[in-house]
Amino acid sequence: MLSLQVLTKEGDQLSLPTEELRRQVVIIGSGPAGLTAAIYTARANLSPLLIDAPADTEKQTTPGGQLMITTDVENYPGFSEGIQGPDLMVEFRKQAERFGTEFLEEWITKVDLSERPFTLYIDNRVVKAETLIIASGASAKWLGIRGEAKTPHGFGGNGVSACATCDGPLPAFRNKRLVVVGGGDTAMEEATFLTRYAARVFVVHRRDKLRASKIMQEKAFRNEKIEFIWDSEVQEILGTPEHGVTGVRLGNPHDGEHFTLDCEGVFIAIGHKPNTDLFKGQLDMDEVGYLKTSGHSTATNIPGVFACGDVQDSVYRQAVTAAGTGCMSAIDAERFLDHLPVTMPSGEEVTIEGEHITKDHRAIVMPSGEVVSNQPEELLEEI
Ligand code: NAP
Repeated sequence: MLSLQVLTKEGDQLSLPTEELRRQVVIIGSGPAGLTAAIYTARANLSPLLIDAPADTEKQTTPGGQLMITTDVENYPGFSEGIQGPDLMVEFRKQAERFGTEFLEEWITKVDLSERPFTLYIDNRVVKAETLIIASGASAKWLGIRGEAKTPHGFGGNGVSACATCDGPLPAFRNKRLVVVGGGDTAMEEATFLTRYAARVFVVHRRDKLRASKIMQEKAFRNEKIEFIWDSEVQEILGTPEHGVTGVRLGNPHDGEHFTLDCEGVFIAIGHKPNTDLFKGQLDMDEVGYLKTSGHSTATNIPGVFACGDVQDSVYRQAVTAAGTGCMSAIDAERFLDHLPVTMPSGEEVTIEGEHITKDHRAIVMPSGEVVSNQPEELLEEI
């Protein structure tokens, strides 16, 4: 007999003998977006089930999301003195638990979104979801070099970061020589941001041309605190446990020459990878893999499937914006379950019964294909 481990409100582990779970709302991901969606849908009495992958260093999964690998969070509203990233996520989780969210820490191996209820496969279990909120986040890309791993194996969290907005203002980086790795918009943005605090910022790029947009490049070129080091790859991050980062070893990929650049901090800005492999071929994504959602809602191309947080946001990527879209997706799921129309990325609106309201709101296409007017009666009389 299969069993499901469920954490109750009181923190007790329950073993439920079941092979199939049916839920009104299933949320994937436990970062700020997923947990905010859980708080809202739990308070709306929708008894959400939140599924997240177990912690795995190699696969870069951390329940609680990217804030779990951040130290001080000084820009999350409501914490005037700042808060540690992991402490913030504990509070999010406690709040979601308080209203009855169920948590399941398991790998989802496959999803079938071809019909509602949607099916999620977890080992030998099956979860059926009337609505699905995807908040699986994005992972920063890393170089995979020596010195980059989290302390104590490297200097991650002790001079190495993948988020300038999160960590740049920390005292450890103020008036210091910092290295930013990458040549895209993120690298330009992070380098420019870091010049507010740093003594000098070195952008190390593996080619002699940037990938970043012209406007971002020019902004960085104009900034007197930024120096570019071209045709260079960071081969190793150097330092000691007591002093943290002390430098980087750089190598030229063309002539093999290498040298050491002294610095006290390294920001890796070589892009992010949205965690969307599970949904390939089923949900619309951009060329990088970010899920496409409607401008007016968090609806994906499949009615009843919503996406929030970094999995659908390549621009803002902040905890507070993730929490904001988490709230939106919860309200969208509630509306959908209440048989109210939700705006799709195409601009039309769709109800749970499959009625499609046209973009101009003038007509409703019924599931049978019949087209009926969506105009108020008095308007029809006038015509
Ligand atoms: P990106 O455009 O993919 O650029 C990644 C950069 O990192 C490239 O310059 C790449 O080098 C370099 N890189 C990748 N792997 C590397 C490795 N292993 N070693 C060394 N260098 C490596 O990623 P992004 O900058 O994060 O931007 C992602 C998207 O978000 C873009 O569409 C961007 O426009 C958008 N974005 C927009 C804003 C904004 O508008 N404010 C801000 C940030 C991001 P190569 O050039 O040699 O490939």
